[in-house]
Amino acid sequence: MSQHINVLDMAREQLAVAANYLNLDQGLHAVLAQPKRQLVVNFPVVFDNGEVAVFQGYRVQHNSSRGPTKGGIRYHPDVDLDETTALAMWMTWKCAVVNIPYGGAKGSVKVDTKLLSKRELEKLTRRFVTEINIVLGERSDVPAPDIGTNAQVMAWIMDTFSMHAGYTVPGVVTGKPVELGGSEGRIEATGRGVIVAAEEAAKVLNMNLGNSKIVVQGFGNVGAIAARIAEENGATVVGISDARGAIYNPKGLPIKELEHRYAGREGGISEYKDAEQISNTQLLELPCDVLIPAAIAAQITEENADKIKAKLIVEGANGPTTPHADHILSDKGVLVVPDVLANAGGVVVSYFEWVQDLQNFFWEEDEVNSKLTRIMRFSFGAVESTMRQHKTDMRTAAYIIGVKRVAEATITRGIYP
Ligand code: NAD
Repeated sequence: MSQHINVLDMAREQLAVAANYLNLDQGLHAVLAQPKRQLVVNFPVVFDNGEVAVFQGYRVQHNSSRGPTKGGIRYHPDVDLDETTALAMWMTWKCAVVNIPYGGAKGSVKVDTKLLSKRELEKLTRRFVTEINIVLGERSDVPAPDIGTNAQVMAWIMDTFSMHAGYTVPGVVTGKPVELGGSEGRIEATGRGVIVAAEEAAKVLNMNLGNSKIVVQGFGNVGAIAARIAEENGATVVGISDARGAIYNPKGLPIKELEHRYAGREGGISEYKDAEQISNTQLLELPCDVLIPAAIAAQITEENADKIKAKLIVEGANGPTTPHADHILSDKGVLVVPDVLANAGGVVVSYFEWVQDLQNFFWEEDEVNSKLTRIMRFSFGAVESTMRQHKTDMRTAAYIIGVKRVAEATITRGIYP
């Protein structure tokens, strides 16, 4: 599905809607519709068998008016410059919606990590970081994990950057292992934030998340943890999927057991026997109260939006719903909590990690989680009241807040020189 949709067009269409509400100056709109900087790198890696392959990677910084740019690094065979740019733009709005002092960035390498050994993955990471080193820095551009990358990859990024600097620079990347200056609670932060957003949204619909049936697309960092926390809070997770397949049990799936067996193992979930095996397409259309897309972009489109039965969609993934689908869902009365709000928990705790690294002073997990919950609830409330005030959908409301903050920062700073 995602191959036919240019997510950068999608991101620009979403910006145009907000620009219209805000009556944004045309020149300023043009500034915000473009990334500030796009770096494309082609670099070689020597495989374990001695063969050499060349990989393409990107680092895109969208806007730095509100602070250093921040955004994950994705390893996936389908990435390209446009997708990375869209993801960087979404990071700008996300940081502004939850009001943390960052601009947006994203990085990616076109690679299928399943085909690499651990040593090859490390070499690819170190060479990629060396190539994009010129734009990274704890005060300028700070990466984090995304699809296909994890705490180990972040540790290699920190080490490579530090080797070039000549001293240890933990604040150059977030999502690191706790022993290397990572934050307690960072691994779970995005999934935890998704569930806080889901709980708040359920209240808007007079539902109780603890009594609801939930379907989650994607069983990686975001999906598996959101599913586990939802289950811990009393909800029944009836459907779940990964890149290769999906499973359904209307009585509920044992998420902790599934996480123990399959999380981090690409494509294993459909091996689970105590459930009906279905396709990813069927998964999205299952009867449920809440749907959490937590995999890749452009999964809910004009082709399937009408068939979705959930009353509430909480976007764990970035860009899972196309603008066309948004209209269909809005007409059906489905509440969509947009990515720039719903999955912001990850960047909020990345911000906490960065603050801890800069101060060399570390917090306990309870403190991290309670500060995260407070920011998520507060941001949700602000978006909800903007939604009511402008009589619009939640995505547009979040964009009104995010784009306005970035536009005001740009105007107040002035355009250099
Ligand atoms: P991950 O690599 O840990 O997991 C991705 C999951 O999606 C895997 O289970 C994979 O099998 C599955 N998947 C991949 N392609 C799929 C497909 N076509 N259909 C169904 N499932 C598919 O990645 P993640 O970190 O959990 O990220 C998931 C999404 O959340 C991405 O859109 C990412 O940008 C977004 N996100 C992640 C974070 C974070 O902190 N990790 C923060 C904010 C947003």
